[in-house]
Parts: sequence; structure tokens; C-alpha cells
Amino acid sequence: MDVSSRLGVLTSGGDAQGMNAAVRAVVRTGLHLGAEVFAVDDGWQGAVDGHIRALAWDDVGSILNRGGTVIGTARSADFRTRPGRLRAARNLLERGIDRLVVVGGDGSLTGTELFRTEWPGLLEELVATGGLDAATAAAHPELFVAGLVGSIDNDMVGTEMTIGADSALHRIVEALDAIASTAASHQRTFVVEVMGRHCGYLALMAAVAGGSDYVLIPESPPAPGWEEEMVDKLRESRAAGRRESMVLVAEGARDRAGAPITAAYVRGVLQDRLSEDARVTILGHVQRGGAPSAYDRWMSTLLGYAAAQEVLSAEPGGEPHVVGVRHNRITLLPLVEAVSATRAVATAVDAGDYAGAMAARGSSFTEMVRTYATMSRPPVATAPGPRRRVAVLHAGGLAPGMNTAARAAVRLGLDRGMTVLGVNGGFPGLIDGDVVELAWHDVEGWVGEGGAGLGTRRAVPEVEQLYALGRAIERLELDGLLIIGGFNAYLAAHRMVTERDRYPAFALPIVCVPASIDNNLPGSELSIGADTALNNIVEALDKIKQSASAAKRCFVVETMGRRCGYLALMAGLAAGAERVYLPEEGMSLAELATDTERMVASFRAGRRLFLAIRNETASDLYTTDVLARIFQEEGHGLYDVRQAVLGHLQQGGNPSPFDRILATRLVSHAIADLAGQLEAGTAEGRYLGLVGSDVVAHPLVHMDEEVDLSARRPRHQWWLGLRPAIEAVSRQGTPAGEALPVLRA
Ligand code: ADP
Repeated sequence: MDVSSRLGVLTSGGDAQGMNAAVRAVVRTGLHLGAEVFAVDDGWQGAVDGHIRALAWDDVGSILNRGGTVIGTARSADFRTRPGRLRAARNLLERGIDRLVVVGGDGSLTGTELFRTEWPGLLEELVATGGLDAATAAAHPELFVAGLVGSIDNDMVGTEMTIGADSALHRIVEALDAIASTAASHQRTFVVEVMGRHCGYLALMAAVAGGSDYVLIPESPPAPGWEEEMVDKLRESRAAGRRESMVLVAEGARDRAGAPITAAYVRGVLQDRLSEDARVTILGHVQRGGAPSAYDRWMSTLLGYAAAQEVLSAEPGGEPHVVGVRHNRITLLPLVEAVSATRAVATAVDAGDYAGAMAARGSSFTEMVRTYATMSRPPVATAPGPRRRVAVLHAGGLAPGMNTAARAAVRLGLDRGMTVLGVNGGFPGLIDGDVVELAWHDVEGWVGEGGAGLGTRRAVPEVEQLYALGRAIERLELDGLLIIGGFNAYLAAHRMVTERDRYPAFALPIVCVPASIDNNLPGSELSIGADTALNNIVEALDKIKQSASAAKRCFVVETMGRRCGYLALMAGLAAGAERVYLPEEGMSLAELATDTERMVASFRAGRRLFLAIRNETASDLYTTDVLARIFQEEGHGLYDVRQAVLGHLQQGGNPSPFDRILATRLVSHAIADLAGQLEAGTAEGRYLGLVGSDVVAHPLVHMDEEVDLSARRPRHQWWLGLRPAIEAVSRQGTPAGEALPVLRA
């Protein structure tokens, strides 16, 4: 890598939460790699106007928690013209910048590619007209670019998530929760318009996460006569016990003929045909605002880290890339193709090619459209034949999203003609026969509620309780078991399948769905509840960090996670911690000495804040208190140290949109698995999980191969590979020019 590289970063087009995390990571990774880094303020307009300034490490400190973009963004008419781009090229080259990371939507990236291809011609013209000397032009014959997609719409083809989409979903779902509570009090109907001109992602996912009754999205326009269908659906839901009605309309919703469907039109339909007073809420810019979600902080940090590496290592004549997310990993996409595929979807929607548009959105989007359609409508007719009895229970620690999962189990189970029994209080409740049959309306409102309505217990049935458990299963005439829970839930299920020889009652289909804030379950990269806990931690850290504005202070913060460091590491990435302590790595005296020296040196150098995050079991001896005292003692009054044990606030609160969507998706696979087994007459025990972006089933009998039973966590944990990014973006002073690991899959 050429250490004399000069790298520019700009944010362009619509702003999106998480852009700051990306900018911070680009800047700091660039500095680590030995580059000089510059901000181009206000998008391409800043290039045209020469608003370009060098950035140092601290210039991008304390910005992770801020919405918008601290380097400004704009839509630039000048940059759309060749004279504008000539000025931009000259201004960049005045500072020797020929490498750029551009964070923006498909428009900004289109402009980027045009600029890149024009670059040699622009330089030639500048030299010819005296705007640039020939030597400078000759030294920078090529412009190297990398794109990051900043767009709350999540509309870029080829990347699973764009920067800002998760935060926008947070804003929408917070609003829907708030509206639902007032709507339910008055039995009212609300029509809510959300952003998304060509992409229904926000509307669809918000409808799933918010438990809305009906959704209208651009890619899947409703059939003619949809008004009647919508009204019927709302009536049926009301008859089945729903107190409020909510219709979501994407900004770009349209009918099959291509005519726009507005929120006002939907309201009129509801008033005329339902004789009900409907209220319209247009969420508008609220969706772009507010603090970025945990995901938009950690993922954007990884994206920025990867983009700086990509653009600084680009070789002459290479293809430019967009750095995106695929299968939950950082991935490189060819920029030109990603942008043109994205534009093609918009064109397909406008041209009425809805099948093409849906195909471009990918299989999990299509799957969600189907799941949503099933969940939002009470089942009309029950399947013929005997109703199979499936019990749903929680076990293990509480995880936000357990209610969402139980609700999905009830509604999707009923749809498949099952009788769904809710078990109160985990395995002890099952042994006592404490079950209730759940109807469609019994789980009304559960979609967004924290806690667990059915209750959860950590207890795993002891050997001497297995007989009673078997008897309870027989007495209740259960045909299948859905277990939504954490590590102990999996242990219990594993015990059941391995004890089938002795207890034939356990020979029924058993499916486990991962729900644990610790994210320590086998067969799933993410478990239900972990994202909520991470958001809780990040919000708490924002407040803790703010409380330190006056003094020089070190915070030692302890997170949950049991023997899994997921929450600590990801919170470290998302909140910009200088150091994280994980149980997977342990803690040693030698390391503590180095850490302390580093910390003291950084305070001496003018740093005001140092954040260390310690998982609750990182070490038996070096507890949070011991760690804080060591740091305090070694500071000799240079700074003070505060400790915060975050405790149960991590498990509380309503589930995040991601956890609601994950719960719904995993349970829809679990119910399909159970239904398939009941149909086929098999009795497999399985655990389901998210692997990359797919839902995969694993046999419970082989669980011990995947799990380190003594450490109570999976043997392989994908996220441990993300650690180098923390060092690169949070730890100042690592020698510049050092090679950094590449994170790409
Ligand atoms: P987004 O990047 O969010 O899609 P826009 O489409 O408004 O937003 O694009 C942002 C900016 O990128 C524009 O104001 C313009 O400066 C630049 N840009 C977009 N398309 C082009 C283009 N075809 N040629 C040159 N510049 C463009």
C-alpha cells in the first residue's frame, strides 16, 4: 500500500443514521493504514466548492451516537454538470486526493462512477486550460473509489441492509407502538405513511414488527377490488378481538394499474366502507432522525473499516466496489452492477413488472410478505381432520421478543389447523400441566411487548422429573413441542431426545427456537433478544458517556452475556469502547498492565474519556470492581474511574424491530417444521437458527458436537472475527501503516 495516499470521505444525498459511524471508521482506519484523510463537506457540493479539510483521529470522536452526518450532505446540481465536476477534480487534486469513500444512495453512487470514468478526461481538460499542471495530472491518472450505501429505504440490490434502514425502522416501530396504545383505547383506525418510494422494505418490516393489519408496498400492488378485501380483513380482525386497526402505506404504494395509493385515499375508503373515523399519520422526516440504532453503529463501523481498506489497496485498472452486507457478512459488490440493478428495480416497478421487482428483493423479503399475510388475518376455515396439539413454552433467561415469538406460534399454528397450547412457567409448568389453549386474539398486543406472557424458568428437568414430564405430555395429549428459549431450553430439549428410549412419551416432534440476550446458542448466528439487549446497552452507554462531559474519566462498564462475549464485543464496536474484556479470551495481569499504561498515556495526551467494557464472567479474579480499582490506582489522580454494572436493564424493554422480525421469521419456520413432521409422522428433535441469511435446522441429538457444554456457548462464534475492527477504530496510537485483517467473508 502506498503510505503517501490521500483519502477523502464524503456523505451525499439523503442523510441516514449511521453515516457518522461509517465516517469515523473510514477516517480512523485510513489513519491506521498510514493515509492522510480528508472530509469533503456537504457531499459532492463540497468537492465542487473546495470545502475539503484534513481530519485527525479526535475530529471524529464522540459522533457515533449522533444522527445525520457531521460532515454534512447535500444534493448538488453543480456536480451534475461537467464544469462542476471539473472544479471538483481540481479541488481534490489541489490536495493530492485521488482516493474517495462515498457514502450515499444510488444517485450519489451513480455520480461517483461517472466522475471516476470521466477522471482522465477531466484532468486532460484541466491541463489543457491551465487549471492543473501536467505533473500533478500525471501523478494521479486514476480516481479510486469505494461506495457505502447510505439509505434509510434499504433499496440497494445486492446488500441485505443499507446504512440507516435499521434506525429508520426503530423510529417507525416506536411510532406504531405509541399510536397503537392510543388507538386501542378508543378502538380507532390509523393509516400511517412511511418512506419508501420504490422499496417497500420499511413498510413491510414495520407492519410485521408493529403488528399492523394491512400494508401497501410498491413492489406488490394489491389486486383490483383490494379496498373491499382490506375492509373485510379489518372487520374480521375486529371480530376476532382486535381493538385497533392499523394500515401502513409506503410512500410509493400503487395499485396494479400504477395509480398511486395515498394514505388519504385509504382513509376515505375506511370511512366510507367501515363507517369509522380513521386518522392519518405521515411519519416523514422523523424516520431519518434520532440516534442511530446499535446495528447502524456496529455494522456501519465495519463497513467503513472495510471501505477504507478497499479503497487504499485498490490497484490501477481495478473495478470499483460497493462495500455491503451479504449473509450477515461484509461483502464487496461491483459498484456499476449494484447501482444498475437497483435502478432496474425502480424501473420495473414503474413499468408494472412487479414479479421482477419482487425477485430482485430476494427470497426472505418474499417470504416475509407471505408470512405477514398469514399472520395478519384470522384463520377462516380450519383444515379438515383432527386438530394436532402443539405446546409452546419458554425456558432459560428472559429474552425480549419471546412474546413476539409466542404470538407468531399461535397465529401461524392456528393457520395450520393446530390447537396451540401455551405453557405457563416453562418446564415446571409443563410438568404441572399448567397450560391454556390460546386463541388468535389471546396474543393480541404481544408483538411488541417485552417480558414473556407465558413466563420463563431456567429450570432444566432433573433426571427424576423426566417420568413426570413424560406423563404430562401424555396426559395433555401433545403432538408436538415448540420451545422458545435459551441455553437451558436447549439442554432440556437435548435431554428429552436422548432419553427417548426410556421415555417413549418424548418421541414427538420437538423444535427449539433461539431466544437469549446472551447470543450463546448453537446453530444460530443471532438469537432473539440479543439485538434488543445491545440497543439497551448502547443507549445506557450514551447516557453514561454524556455524564462525563466535564471531567477526565474512565468508565468500566459490565455487561451481561454469561460466558459469551457477544454483547460486550458488539457494544464495544457500537459505542466506541477503547477496550473490551471477553470470557473467550480471559484477562491476564500482563494485559492489564499494558492496558493501564495505554490508558494513562492516552489521558496524558489529552483524552477525556476512556471506555472499557467487561463481560460479567470475563475473569473470576479481575472483577469489574478490581479492574476499576487498578485503573484508579494507576492514574494517580490524572483522571477518575467510575464503574457501572448495567444489570437487568439489558433484558428489559420492548423488543427491537429486528428481534420482532427475527422472532416471526424463525417461528414461521418452526411451525412449518412441526406441521411437516406431523403430516409425515416423524418425531425429530431440531433447533433452528439463522445461518448467514438463511434459516437452518440442526438435529438436537448432535447438539453436543456444536456446543462447548462446560463453557455453555457454541464452539465456533462468527463475531469473534470482528475484534480487529475495534482495535483499528478505537485504539489510537497503534503504529500507523500496520496491516489490518480483512473481515470479508
Ligand atoms: P441519493 O444518493 O440519496 O440517491 P440523489 O439521487 O439526490 O440522492 O443524489 C445525490 C447527489 O449525487 C446529487 O445531488 C448529485 O450531486 C449526485 N448525482 C446523482 N446522480 C448523478 C448523476 N447522474 N451524475 C452526476 N451526479 C449525480
